[in-house]
Amino acid sequence: MSIDGEPATSTSTLPVIDPAVAAPFACVPDCTREQLDATVAAAQRAFVTWSDESFEERRRLVNAFIERVVADADALAPLITREQGKPLVKARGEINAAVFFARGYAAVELAPEVLRDTPQQRVELRRRPLGVVGAITAWNYPVLLAMWKIVPAVLAGNTIVLKPSPHTPLATLRLGELAQDIFPRGVVNVISGGNALGTWMTEHPGIRKIAFTGSGPTGKRVMASAAGNLKRLTLELGGNDAGIVLDDVDPVRIAGDLFWAKFSNCGQVCAALKRMYVHRSVYKAVCDELVKFAATVKMGGGMEEGVDIGPIQNRMQYDLVRAMVDEAVAGGAKVLYRSGVPSGPGLFLPITILTDVTPSMRVVKEEVFGPVLTITPFDDEDEALRLANDSEYGLGGSVWSSDAQRAAKVASRLDSGGAWVNQHPAMGPDIPFGGVKGSGIGVELGRLGLEEYTSIQVLNVKF
Ligand code: NAD
Repeated sequence: MSIDGEPATSTSTLPVIDPAVAAPFACVPDCTREQLDATVAAAQRAFVTWSDESFEERRRLVNAFIERVVADADALAPLITREQGKPLVKARGEINAAVFFARGYAAVELAPEVLRDTPQQRVELRRRPLGVVGAITAWNYPVLLAMWKIVPAVLAGNTIVLKPSPHTPLATLRLGELAQDIFPRGVVNVISGGNALGTWMTEHPGIRKIAFTGSGPTGKRVMASAAGNLKRLTLELGGNDAGIVLDDVDPVRIAGDLFWAKFSNCGQVCAALKRMYVHRSVYKAVCDELVKFAATVKMGGGMEEGVDIGPIQNRMQYDLVRAMVDEAVAGGAKVLYRSGVPSGPGLFLPITILTDVTPSMRVVKEEVFGPVLTITPFDDEDEALRLANDSEYGLGGSVWSSDAQRAAKVASRLDSGGAWVNQHPAMGPDIPFGGVKGSGIGVELGRLGLEEYTSIQVLNVKF
């Protein structure tokens, strides 16, 4: 890769755009099909010995890799900020989170389960690695998403070929470089390229599993293309999460949490609270407090001091989110709040809170991956749940109340993989995370997440 004018090492390259100024600042190799073939072949060769290593030895090297990432945080953080847009302090936060989750993942056990143990027979359910894993990631959390795939894949005994989003390849390529110091050759491979490279990976006969994080429409294409050799799949796709705010909340106390549930990372979070349903008795107070809070938030370039929210990551999203808001307003939605934006060519969209929206508007129906929140009042819990569950997606959802037990009862009726009370989202390295309906297939994190990188083998011994 080349940054700020240093020579690139490949003839065919892709530009990397800094969204704070909407201008290229680096370029990376655009991997060809032949280079993918060579990488997969190297990963297949490495699999022979890596899969034979003990689990403890693999864990030792995974932990060494995680510490290598910790030591490199000063170099990684500005790469994330410049390619992704998030403020430097949040880029640091992403690395810290990636390390926290990775350490937790690396502590998970994968011991065989004894199903029968009698004088006549012993039956064990064992977990075996799959082979070469193809990992494909999105641009909103490049380092976090990459670590969520590298760590379980290689811990379980697989080798991995990882392709970051063409919009944010730099920090992930850096992770690939760090991995070379730790793992045997061919175990961890990072390649950069466009969307076509993703398609070649999903079709590739040498890849046994695709671990994919991205949008719903791409997820469906991945699934169809991976059918060729019946690849295993984990699909972590988009979401259109609802948050239900019950009548007994304290609007002042929860305003900050509600705000960041939506606007973290400039609203570019798969499991952000994208549609808010608020009981009519507290509707005005919640709206007022959200507006007050929003007015305290600073938007700007990620390398500036004191910035809370950066730009939208890429031009396509910028145009899409803008169009969705314009359409909604033309259709009768009211703008409850709209922030200013920094001047200049950067891809800054205002923090926008919309009311008077209808379920058929795209801003409600589709995933809005940007700084836009819709708020709708409701009169009873059944109505709130009906509205919340009226979505093709089912990643997460939350219920907010001063009575956590009451909220938990309502949350358990959400049609989503995550059901959270007084928080949104809520994740942990030992807690499986994944969506239902159009939000995906399978989970990441925890033992269930690690098992997704294995196949079962039943060892059945007759004495
Ligand atoms: P995207 O689907 O456009 O791209 C994701 C990745 O897929 C990129 O690396 C891209 O190059 C690759 N790709 C594109 N076309 C492909 C194809 N035909 N075959 C194989 N790979 C292909 O998504 P995006 O815009 O990068 O990311 C935003 C989306 O990701 C949002 O919908 C967001 O909700 C979702 N997301 C989900 C999670 C989760 O854990 N559920 C986490 C982060 C982001």
